[in-house]
Amino acid sequence: MTDSYDGGPVGALRRIAFLLERGREDTYKVKAFRGAAAALLPLSDDDVRRAAAEGTLTDLPGVGASSAKVIADAVAGRMPERLAKAEREHGGPLTAGGHDLRALLKGDLHSHSDWSDGGSPIEEMAFTAMELGHEYQVLTDHSPRLKVARGLSAERLARQLDVVDAVNDHLAGGGFTLLKGIEVDINEDGTLDQTDELLARLDVRVASVHSKLRSDRATMTRRMLAAIEHPLMNVLGHCTGRLVTGGRGTRPPSDFDARAVFEACVEHDVAVEINSRPERRDPPTKLLQLARDVGCLFSIDTDAHAPGQLDFLVYGAERAEEAGIEPDRIVNTWPKERLLGWASK
Ligand SMILES: [Zn+2]
Ligand SMILES: [Zn+2]
Repeated sequence: MTDSYDGGPVGALRRIAFLLERGREDTYKVKAFRGAAAALLPLSDDDVRRAAAEGTLTDLPGVGASSAKVIADAVAGRMPERLAKAEREHGGPLTAGGHDLRALLKGDLHSHSDWSDGGSPIEEMAFTAMELGHEYQVLTDHSPRLKVARGLSAERLARQLDVVDAVNDHLAGGGFTLLKGIEVDINEDGTLDQTDELLARLDVRVASVHSKLRSDRATMTRRMLAAIEHPLMNVLGHCTGRLVTGGRGTRPPSDFDARAVFEACVEHDVAVEINSRPERRDPPTKLLQLARDVGCLFSIDTDAHAPGQLDFLVYGAERAEEAGIEPDRIVNTWPKERLLGWASK
């Protein structure tokens, strides 16, 4: 007997994509389902039902054979086999621990859309964050210098801010807010790679080092300290830049005077990011404990580049819990108004 399903074809395709991203499957597998969901959006339910009945779903641009099967099942109210498989393989808990702290997190301060190097449109990221129960999600696309990631020029960022307003207008009343942010590059001289005028228009600013990660200790320390002193900086992103696993290979942590950097974070009210990405796990445990002992604030962030990765918060929560960091020192346990008050400095 087949299980029934009432989530509709777009819901089924989005859920499969979400689960595959959450399970860190290759993005090319995911693209087909997201593309098919996008292809159905402009169609009426009747159009989709008719195409399913006539067997012409694959005539729709972006709908392949396996997506068509999912759509046909969902339209008929049957649980699509591909969805059941994805639920079985990727629907379970991601970690053993961290769930109590995860439940206290009200949002996420670091995420990317397809305006820079993310894989999905802003609205899809926002919908998914809302579905996860977040009170807020900060959109933090890259800054201009990061050309490989299609970093946003001042002009494009200004345009993105209007889009964020439009998305929020559209979602009005849902108790969720998409916040304006940036993951701004820390330049080699410690300045930030965006105009102060634009940085000041944002709700939250994450600043990260993405280049010359092998600089000597004194150079890297100077660079990071200068950025932390910038009056608009809120969160120090993935502080060591290390990669511990994954498709991009591994990369050792960069070398800097961590005590001096974390003490500066305390002095300037900058939170140290606990980057939840499994390939980053940044900061490493010893540095996380040092930042804890120095008295830093923290932000547990996903750095999501796809909607399903927005569910990675529990990875960071597990590490914060293991390190014994009190929830009130984690800025995304705070309600939106308190977070915004802190971030506005
Ligand atoms: Zn980054
Ligand atoms: Zn990022």
